Amino acid sequence: MRKAQPFINGCWINSGRPVVQVRSPYSGEIIGEQLLSTKEDVENALSSAFQAKKEIAGIPVYERANILKKASSLLDSRKETFAKFISEELGKPLKNTLDEVSRSVETLEQSAEEAKRLIGETIPGSASQRGTKALAMTFRVPVGVVAAITPFNAPLNLICHKIGPAFAAGNSVVLKPAPQTPLIAAELLKLLLEVGFPKHGINMVLGGAEVGQQIVQDDRVNVISFTGGVAASRNICDLAGMKKVLLELGGNAATIVHEDADLKRAAALCALTGYSNSGQSCISVQRIYVHETVVEPFTKLFKEKVEQLKVGDPLSPDTDIGCLVDERAAERVMNWIKEAVQSGAELITGGKQHGATVEPTVLLNPPKQSKVVCEEVFGPIVSIIPYCTIEEAIAETNNSSFGLQAGLFTNRMDVIYQAAKELEVGGVVINGTSNFRLDHWPYGGVKNSGIGREGPRYAIQEMTEMKMIVFQDPY
Ligand code: NAD
Repeated sequence: MRKAQPFINGCWINSGRPVVQVRSPYSGEIIGEQLLSTKEDVENALSSAFQAKKEIAGIPVYERANILKKASSLLDSRKETFAKFISEELGKPLKNTLDEVSRSVETLEQSAEEAKRLIGETIPGSASQRGTKALAMTFRVPVGVVAAITPFNAPLNLICHKIGPAFAAGNSVVLKPAPQTPLIAAELLKLLLEVGFPKHGINMVLGGAEVGQQIVQDDRVNVISFTGGVAASRNICDLAGMKKVLLELGGNAATIVHEDADLKRAAALCALTGYSNSGQSCISVQRIYVHETVVEPFTKLFKEKVEQLKVGDPLSPDTDIGCLVDERAAERVMNWIKEAVQSGAELITGGKQHGATVEPTVLLNPPKQSKVVCEEVFGPIVSIIPYCTIEEAIAETNNSSFGLQAGLFTNRMDVIYQAAKELEVGGVVINGTSNFRLDHWPYGGVKNSGIGREGPRYAIQEMTEMKMIVFQDPY
């Protein structure tokens, strides 16, 4: 049986804490257990991280980079095992978890590479009358302690996106993984320690919101790097006080299929990326705005592709759709489908629940105010919504409290320029869907989708301060 324990001040906590069983959401079987952290554990973790600041900042960059590189290689050699672990714990199909582990390997490797690019600049003073005999140099220095709080849906890669850059930058970390996926977090931590990650460079505490709240309130933390939902992020901002807060939040991502689009390609990509991990991705294709002249053929092609997706056991290599994180999530998704259909949407396919699994569901024309349009579904529902002009499609995409990424299928340069300029999102994908991310790119959103950008190079900027040293010529 696998076990997740708090890791505090360089030691695993083995007993004397409340124990919670971890079950596979697909089979219901017990696959492990986690020991929840007490208030005292969190206090000790914060104190340990604070004390380790100097030690971690003092590790030469080449050594930090080597450790991250070794972690990346070891993870690569254990790809299948890690993928299986995530599939068991989350119900995410092996196809997706193999991809997640490969991405995590890259995230760690890129963090190692970026560690070596912590550079500054020299700025002559003579641009000012008062500075003719002065010169400034800037350096990137670690912030100190980074709090890393992560969600369940990509439970390995999103931890790598925080620990990798934080350590590359020379910070110590307090990690709080999602309560639904503690086992994979513990597995990664063991791997890091195996390759020589300094044992005081990371503390891990386990539990839910209350553990996160204790961390974010504490003034020994310098930067909070949070990935999760809007409700939690608002609470974090209320509690954080003067700390820098980086927020990677959700969305109700739109993809536009224009009249000249390659409909086959658009339908295939929307089906692939609208339902991966049962739609539990912050950039999952949720709303497809389709030009009214091609709605009929697109809907037919899309339905065909969606019905080809294989629903089943996440551990089976040919499964495309596993289950949601738990049965409660599946019930919520079913209620949203019902609400949309009752208010006028046409159910094209899907709409059935089996345990924590919801069949990939396509809705046509749900009303603007329905939850499946204006809130984050985080489940396997995709809606097709016809539009008349590109201006209307852009306005409807922007008619959202979120703005993470958007997709656009067209070859018309005028449409591409207009959409790229006017869409209120962190990234626009041309001839692809909203759900495309490479881990070295700057990733993040506007509005309720977040603050700041992730991706090792950009996260390192956020997790370091600029320090200036000034030289005055005394002669
Ligand atoms: P969540 O917000 O419920 O929880 C995320 C983490 O925050 C968990 O570890 C949780 O225990 C902790 N937490 C919850 N409330 C907290 C509080 N008040 N103070 C401190 N910590 C708190 O999110 P979730 O259900 O695990 O994940 C789904 C959400 O994450 C979706 O909205 C999804 O879009 C978003 N997400 C965003 C990205 C991105 O990069 N933008 C990536 C993946 C997921």
